[in-house]
Amino acid sequence: MPNMQHLHILNEKGSAITPLLIALRDKTLQQDASRFRENLKKVGRLMAFELSKSFDFRKEDVTTPLGVAMEWQLNEKVVVISILRAASSMAEGFTDTLPEAEIGMIGAMRKEGNEVDIDLSYIAIPDISNKRVIIVDPMLATGKSMVKTVDTLLQKGTPAKVDIACLVAAPEGIDYLNQNISIQFELWTCAKDKCLNDQFYIVPGLGDAGDLAFGRKK
Ligand code: URA
Repeated sequence: MPNMQHLHILNEKGSAITPLLIALRDKTLQQDASRFRENLKKVGRLMAFELSKSFDFRKEDVTTPLGVAMEWQLNEKVVVISILRAASSMAEGFTDTLPEAEIGMIGAMRKEGNEVDIDLSYIAIPDISNKRVIIVDPMLATGKSMVKTVDTLLQKGTPAKVDIACLVAAPEGIDYLNQNISIQFELWTCAKDKCLNDQFYIVPGLGDAGDLAFGRKK
């Protein structure tokens, strides 16, 4: 049974994310790695703000110099999981906006060939039980590393809620998550692109986000 509760396409009609997405996609502008990382971080900050509107809050009184104001206090614990290495800057943007969030890291390595094989080599995550878990990965391509990440997380605890946040998502990846993630989740992406190519890159996408941010791997 499909478990995706909602697909949020944050930049469907344009927003403050647009100029960042343009600079990340543009094949000339994206060559400045420092700017590329900075733009990923800025997108992460904006996405976290959008996502935070769906958090659970409780009412709290705040005493001002002139009276008592009712405000909303966060009522859940949040864990941001960064899928290394491509998600590092975007996840940093998330934790800039959500400074109280705990941070987890999972290293996912894509071995290219006829099939996409994913190796999760490094897993360092806090206790996720009953917490809101936001998994950040800029490129949702085949969806295989994301499904493997969620399966790995579920072996470690049962989160209260799972959100998946990406910059660009391919329809194939969205379908794969829908069919293979065994718990309910929401997917947040800035853009839904056209398709994957035969190398499993997103088209039009932006290229290899990890290489653009950190240099080509040897
Ligand atoms: N990972 C990337 O960095 N880019 C893609 O297009 C697909 C996966």
